[in-house]
Amino acid sequence: MVQRRRVRIQGIVQGVGFRPFIYQLAHRHRLYGYVANTPQGVELEIEGDESDLDRFLVDLPVNIPPLAQITRLETEALPPFAYTGFEIRTSAAGAERAALISPDTAICADCLRELFDPRDRRYRYPFINCTNCGPRYTIIRDIPYDRVNTAMATFTMCDRCEREYHDPLNRRFHAQPNACWECGPRVWLTDAAGKEIPLADPIAAAAARLREGAVLAVKGLGGFHLAVDATQNEAVRRLRLRKRREEKPLALMSPELEQIASYVLLGDRERDLLTQPQRAIVLARKRPESPIAPEVAPRNQYLGVMLPYTPLHYLLLAHGFLALVMTSGNLSEEPIAIDNDEALRRLAGIADYFLFHDRDILLRSDDSVVRVTGGRVRQIRRSRGFVPVPVFLRRPVPPILALGGELKGTICVTKEDRAFVSQHLGDLENLETLEFLELTVRHLRRILEVHPRLLVHDLHPDYLTTQVALAQQELPTLAVQHHHAHVVSAMAEHKLEGRVLGLALDGTGYGTDGRIWGGEILAVDEKGFERLGHLSYMPMPGGTAAIKEPWRMAVSYLRATFGEAYFAENTPLLRRWGRERIDLLLQMLRRQLNSPLTSSCGRLFDGVAALVGVRDRIAYEGQAAIELEQCMEPTQERYRYEFNDADGVLLLSPTAIFAQVAEDVAADARAGVVSGKFHRTVVEMFAEACRHLATRHGLTRVVCSGGVFQNVYILTNIERRLHELGLEVYTHELVPSNDGCISLGQALVGAASLER
Ligand SMILES: [Zn+2]
Ligand SMILES: [Zn+2]
Ligand SMILES: [Zn+2]
Repeated sequence: MVQRRRVRIQGIVQGVGFRPFIYQLAHRHRLYGYVANTPQGVELEIEGDESDLDRFLVDLPVNIPPLAQITRLETEALPPFAYTGFEIRTSAAGAERAALISPDTAICADCLRELFDPRDRRYRYPFINCTNCGPRYTIIRDIPYDRVNTAMATFTMCDRCEREYHDPLNRRFHAQPNACWECGPRVWLTDAAGKEIPLADPIAAAAARLREGAVLAVKGLGGFHLAVDATQNEAVRRLRLRKRREEKPLALMSPELEQIASYVLLGDRERDLLTQPQRAIVLARKRPESPIAPEVAPRNQYLGVMLPYTPLHYLLLAHGFLALVMTSGNLSEEPIAIDNDEALRRLAGIADYFLFHDRDILLRSDDSVVRVTGGRVRQIRRSRGFVPVPVFLRRPVPPILALGGELKGTICVTKEDRAFVSQHLGDLENLETLEFLELTVRHLRRILEVHPRLLVHDLHPDYLTTQVALAQQELPTLAVQHHHAHVVSAMAEHKLEGRVLGLALDGTGYGTDGRIWGGEILAVDEKGFERLGHLSYMPMPGGTAAIKEPWRMAVSYLRATFGEAYFAENTPLLRRWGRERIDLLLQMLRRQLNSPLTSSCGRLFDGVAALVGVRDRIAYEGQAAIELEQCMEPTQERYRYEFNDADGVLLLSPTAIFAQVAEDVAADARAGVVSGKFHRTVVEMFAEACRHLATRHGLTRVVCSGGVFQNVYILTNIERRLHELGLEVYTHELVPSNDGCISLGQALVGAASLER
């Protein structure tokens, strides 16, 4: 019996080879009908034997092209029509406008095979791609996603490429960046001044320079990388010095999984993650002995590793490298360079050679960073490969634009039931990064065709993003408290509704009382929050200087714990920090000069790290806490903690803990042991406080967010402990728990305010 069905599919289904896939699947199941793009996604009709129809519909979702993602699939039975074949229909005007754009994706297995096949016409062609792989988000200028609206517009396809592009059965059917040696972009090598070195094989020549220890700037997919041979300590040191990046770990790229496995420990989950088409940087534990230069990640037990993702990377690494350092092409703090001239200017004095190409990068996008914790993938920096895949919301919301916080900035745009969180923008503390933010705002609004009704920003009056929001007149604005945004962003990921207990353990967030919050237990819904408990306030002597110099926090906690008498003796600890500097700090504290009050959990970690001698000064954000975590020795012991109720708000005492840490330090306890006890204490104290407040306020769900949850021990153990206490726990998986999530939370709070 012949039957007909209509199928409507939404998701990432355009520009990813979906129609040819349907065409071929219909052929395989002997079905007639058509497939076409629509403004919502893809629509198809199939007609044939009932059992064939059923098998087609079973096969469809499990065999979709690698870049496709189905979010909704509806089928409808119709009376037979008597189709006589299956066709790919040309799309009606406007059909492609509302479609989701795919992220940039690593070269696929088929293209990789062709790249190294001497008989293939694209043998060793550095820009080989197909509908299943290649650049997308970073080369698009406008929608619809058509070649004329991409960086490929300036390249006219040769006859052979053109034929592939129009053949529905070809892997390159409508592959917008389709190109070959004859018609596509090219690569060339220049010296440090930008003068081209005439060469038959610029990639081989670049590899030879790398082997000699040179610093090479390589134009990639979302920006330039700075590369050196990762086994040459001197070369890595030179790169650090020139880039002014003192200690922060540098990412590595190796040609194959097995090479990565020779210098870091890889579980199944990490192996799987490394080979995903997103090709994120994965954090993995160093092997004790390895040829990787120590300068790559000094005093860090982890390395950030990735596999190549462009054909150019594969060609470069094929020259016998175990690993290349591949770090963002920028000076510390600035956004990654994307333009050839810009790279020459900004990377002058850093790179000895430049490996350029002439396919423009229209939107910069850093490498993403992820790690596996407790069997689950956690985002640390969500960028290339993940953006612009939206977070799907539990309901449609009004269009909102949210500007995020300050550090690890992202923006977020909502459209119907989707929230688009931008790529990582960096720390929004300088004009370059701010321009990048404004460009990204324009870009996302254009390609999503969104006209926001509200502009949301952080409550902090001094953030540049706040100033941007307040300086414009186009949109009404709304300020959202930092930790409210943190918790709501995690709620959005898990589609939670109603009131939850929010546990925000964080570095810095401006509070409604003008103080700096960061160790917060809140009752939260999308509309608002109530502060139920927090770490007691401590002064930060010197303000932001206390973030860069954790020893200042240690002095502040010690003074609050023991009084100034503690500083009378001339202990080795005090000699390390310097008598004069301590006296100056005590004076500031006494007079309450430039010493804002904070309930930050991050600062408590800093203070302990300084007191145990792990780190007095940091070279990058979170360094003291990271090193305190990494030196931890397992222990069954912990410190006592204290809460007390003050006018219905639970105050958690940092000084009670600090007193015992100081005792251990005075008794020459090992830093690792103190760290172990301290970590256990933090887990127990916050879990117990959550249980207490959940009972009191009739809440059963705890939602965790904040930079402190990047700490693997804290994340896994708080999660476990809260479960044991009978609470439901929700943590971040789609967006980072650090400030990369703020824009998402802001957008949802903004949406709720408009719905009211
Ligand atoms: Zn491909
Ligand atoms: Zn061609
Ligand atoms: Zn935060």
